[in-house]
Amino acid sequence: MAAAHVPRKALSHLRFRFLLTLIAFSLNFALSDQPRAADPSTASLRETGGWIVLPDRVQPRLAPSLGAQKASCFLSYKAIIPAKRLEAGPHSSRQDWLTWEHDATRLYLPIAQAVPEVLPQAPGNLPIGHERVDLEHPLPLCYEPRDLRPIDRKWIYVKDREIKMRSEAVRYAHRMFEAAKAEKIHLRVVSGYRPAKTQRWLYLRKVEEDGLGQKIVAKPGHSEHQLGTAMDVSGLDPKTVLKPLFAETKEGVWVRENATRYGFRLTYTPENSGKTHYIPEPWHLRYIGMALEKDR
Ligand SMILES: [Zn+2]
Repeated sequence: MAAAHVPRKALSHLRFRFLLTLIAFSLNFALSDQPRAADPSTASLRETGGWIVLPDRVQPRLAPSLGAQKASCFLSYKAIIPAKRLEAGPHSSRQDWLTWEHDATRLYLPIAQAVPEVLPQAPGNLPIGHERVDLEHPLPLCYEPRDLRPIDRKWIYVKDREIKMRSEAVRYAHRMFEAAKAEKIHLRVVSGYRPAKTQRWLYLRKVEEDGLGQKIVAKPGHSEHQLGTAMDVSGLDPKTVLKPLFAETKEGVWVRENATRYGFRLTYTPENSGKTHYIPEPWHLRYIGMALEKDR
């Protein structure tokens, strides 16, 4: 068989590419339209704190437009800019620009190239079920739960891959998968905890490919996967992995009907997509905790 002659290294490279594709597709939408030129005379300025620059190296503009002249200075990753947010109007937040003054020159950067600086409030883990992360409320980039542990490999979609979640979430995920299996529903995990540095790398790669207006990959700090309580699940059929079609498979239906019994909730549904600004993701589950789930 031809596959037998593919060098092991090439195979693992292929597998890596496949994984990246899976991960990229499992990320929430964070951006929409390409940043357009904003008119500073009509736009409002919102006072904000510092913003962390995301690209390795970027030149700010001298006006709020991608076509505007570039400034002579460079910014690099992790530079903190004391910027205000130039809001072009209602419902335009994804096209906003950041602006600040440097050496008596006003500079501009698309909001797509930075995230708000969020300082950790207290060391340790965030309380499960009460964590807040969405388009307007990012996590500190350094946040990493301290009780991460691997999901049993027999439940992992891509063999030999290690996927972690927080300990309690893993415990209930295992129970859920066993219960599903008893009903001949074979669930697998495609993605779990993801640190902000992985998210940043995926984000920048996507931006490089598709431009600042890309709609697929979330900014670092803005993904529920960083909480360590979210996972993407699938059945065994590759055609429905991370696809809207998953909702119609027997595994998708089972998850929708039974996940709450194990403390998991579908966070991005057709009902709440107007509010969350995320597309429905019938494969994305977040562990809320058994206690909270019983209350609701
Ligand atoms: Zn997800």
